[in-house]
Amino acid sequence: MTKFAPPSAETPKSLTILGSTGSVGCSTLDLVSRQPQNFTIKALTANSNVTQLAEQARSHGAELAVVADPAHYSALRDALAGSGIRAAAGEEGLAEAASLDADTVMAAIVGAAGLNPTLIAAERGAAVALANKECLVCSGNLLLTAVERGGGVLLPVDSEHNAIFQVFDFDRPEGIEKIILTASGGPFRQASLEDMRHVTPQQAVAHPNWSMGAKISVDSATMMNKGLELIEAFHLFPVSGDRIEVVVHPQSVIHSMVSYVDGSVLAQLGSPDMRTPIAYALAWPDRMAAPVAKLDFSVITTLTFEQPDPVRFPALRLAREALDAGGGMPTVLNAANEIGVAHFLKSRIGFLDICAIVEETMQRLDPGAPATIEDIKALDGDARRIAGELAAASVAA
Ligand code: NAD
Ligand code: MG
Repeated sequence: MTKFAPPSAETPKSLTILGSTGSVGCSTLDLVSRQPQNFTIKALTANSNVTQLAEQARSHGAELAVVADPAHYSALRDALAGSGIRAAAGEEGLAEAASLDADTVMAAIVGAAGLNPTLIAAERGAAVALANKECLVCSGNLLLTAVERGGGVLLPVDSEHNAIFQVFDFDRPEGIEKIILTASGGPFRQASLEDMRHVTPQQAVAHPNWSMGAKISVDSATMMNKGLELIEAFHLFPVSGDRIEVVVHPQSVIHSMVSYVDGSVLAQLGSPDMRTPIAYALAWPDRMAAPVAKLDFSVITTLTFEQPDPVRFPALRLAREALDAGGGMPTVLNAANEIGVAHFLKSRIGFLDICAIVEETMQRLDPGAPATIEDIKALDGDARRIAGELAAASVAA
């Protein structure tokens, strides 16, 4: 990715949030509500929580509210009665939300479910603030091509990629030696393999530093989150996969680093609060105030680093294998992981089964390079089916 020219910085900026009821969505609206003069809300979307969605849409004066699950359409319409806010539902509703002419679209749906609307926003040249890493991982080059065709920009919201975006010299990439992604190590950084075999969903979602949605919290616990971020970094920045490293940094103060050929290492630091990278993406190329705890270096005494353990955390290896295999393998990795995490969250399989299912699904499929969104969806569906069968078999075993 090259750094694109900024869009015309008109105020107020119009904003659509795909996934407004989630952790990133709510943090985005929190920032907007503190500077209402600088933003107008076009569309908000949620999966099924119509009460929260309608409340958000009313208090922010949205034009359109969309519930992805069509079963909740009439409840949304009723909740918005008399407000003048349009209600819509399903895939078409999400597509309409992405099509409205918002300057910025915050892509904060979790999982591959966000791919379609994010592609639409990219195609029409919106500034896409990308939290939904799964959609970049599973789309291969499709999302980047859509951004290029649309003439917009992709602004990384994931804290590591946002950090790198801030310190990456896009004009002189030849001066860059490598990217170093930091990882907290998650709640089981020091747990034994035996203990990890028995952890509950509740223990897995209790992240030591970040407050996030359930799926990404489990991904952080398996370190698949860092695996997905490795692939995300490969797409976002002009460096080869072997020049992207991962280091565990339990304090989550350094959000990632870029190492230059002269020995300089540039890093972005901050509190572990998503409102910093979200604010960066909302205001880019300007800066806006964010109500986050500022770093206090009289309190921070230690920043530590360690290598990830490949035995307890095979997800990193699997993600690297998917990246090296190329083609549709990252789509397979992502889909199998979504299924594994969903089964684990319902206590149907064990924590260690998640990566075992991902590995087995990758071994069973030999995908070519998907050329269209239909190819991606077909491959995603195949991987989900196989991973689902493996999960069912592991329940039965
Ligand atoms: P979340 O589970 O809290 O929220 C997800 C949102 O997507 C909700 O609004 C939900 O209604 C909607 N959604 C869920 N399934 C959907 C479907 N099938 N169709 C349409 N909408 C659906 O998740 P989150 O933690 O806010 O994460 C959102 C994305 O941002 C993820 O891709 C995650 O990896 C990424 N991210 C999150 C954080 C964080 O701190 N939470 C940090 C970095 C990246
Ligand atoms: Mg991250």
